[in-house]
Amino acid sequence: MNQAVVNPPEKVNLLDFDRQGLRDFFTQIGEKPYRAEQVMKWIYHHLEDNFENMTDVGKALRAKLEASCYIAPPKTMFDKAAADGTHKWLLGMDGGNAVEAVYIPEPTRGTLCVSSQVGCGLNCQFCSTATQGFNRNLATSEIIGQMWVAAKYLGNVTHQNRRITNVVMMGMGEPLLNFDNVTKAMSLMRDDLGFGLASKRVTLSTAGLVPMIDKLSETIDVSLAVSLHAANDELRTELVPLNKRYPIAELMASCQRWLARKPRTSITFEYTLMKGVNDQPEHARQLIKLMRRMPNCKVNLIPFNPFPGTRFERSDADTIRAFQTQLLNANVLTMLRRTRGDDIDAACGQLKGQVLDRTRRQAEFRKRLDEGASHAA
Ligand code: SAH
Repeated sequence: MNQAVVNPPEKVNLLDFDRQGLRDFFTQIGEKPYRAEQVMKWIYHHLEDNFENMTDVGKALRAKLEASCYIAPPKTMFDKAAADGTHKWLLGMDGGNAVEAVYIPEPTRGTLCVSSQVGCGLNCQFCSTATQGFNRNLATSEIIGQMWVAAKYLGNVTHQNRRITNVVMMGMGEPLLNFDNVTKAMSLMRDDLGFGLASKRVTLSTAGLVPMIDKLSETIDVSLAVSLHAANDELRTELVPLNKRYPIAELMASCQRWLARKPRTSITFEYTLMKGVNDQPEHARQLIKLMRRMPNCKVNLIPFNPFPGTRFERSDADTIRAFQTQLLNANVLTMLRRTRGDDIDAACGQLKGQVLDRTRRQAEFRKRLDEGASHAA
């Protein structure tokens, strides 16, 4: 009789599970689910990745865990601090892929900017990640792992003297195109046994995937930021090609539904200011009109951060001030995002990582760059 060949089940990375997933995994290996919570606390409160050091977990269980799973955050390939205290990590994901995470310290808070995909497929014209093309979605472990690595480096203590008080999904990628992994990772950011951050302090930023905004509001309690950049369809389609699929009226309707479901929250609208493109009084007027129907919402103005080969420029300081004043005079709550970490290319839209491009966009971009160079010569 042939003997059945049973392959040992593959080991799993515990960073891929949210609390429920971890409980299910423990049940699967014949353990009580509450043990999962004990281990979860070791992983996210003590930032421990070695089962041997989990002193209140019995020896037999530790051996079982060694045999069936591991805790593997992404590897730091490179990290760098900026003069203003901003810190950037390049984290290796596999083969030649790497993404970036950025920590931005401020007097009253510390914000970690987290990536959701290797590259991005949306092709927003003013974003350097777009020039890199797209490779793949990040796994839950690779998303929460960015926070784990930063927290460990910074000596973060969950529930007391936190170094990371806020997380924004504003790194590389479109988080709503990696919905399941992103929401699982955000639930670990929110969970008391995870990083324990309040819903106001975990923000997802989207270029405007309307159906997924609705799904998000039904799935998890987090804050929403929408990348607007223009308040008329013609210009927005030029800057954010996704606008062709989900034009401004549809996007605003989904924002209204979000606010109806979460009455005490607001939405932040991001608006990157580019010289002569979307920074004129007429653009501010259009934005004011749009915001009239979004009471309690906020506009976040981001001075454009340049990168090699871009055709855009940052608006002048006077123009930025005038744009903000025009909005404030119309009672639109408007903040100006200070540019941080630009000496290490860690500012918004400058994250590049290392993308094994599957879209050939990198090649096209390089060609354009070369053509530009020869025209200039
Ligand atoms: N895909 C998501 C999250 C990533 S981008 C989104 O579109 O929201 C995070 C923010 O930085 C977005 O508002 C994006 O439009 C903005 N951004 C991109 N490139 C930029 C640049 N070069 N300068 C300033 N802001 C930029």
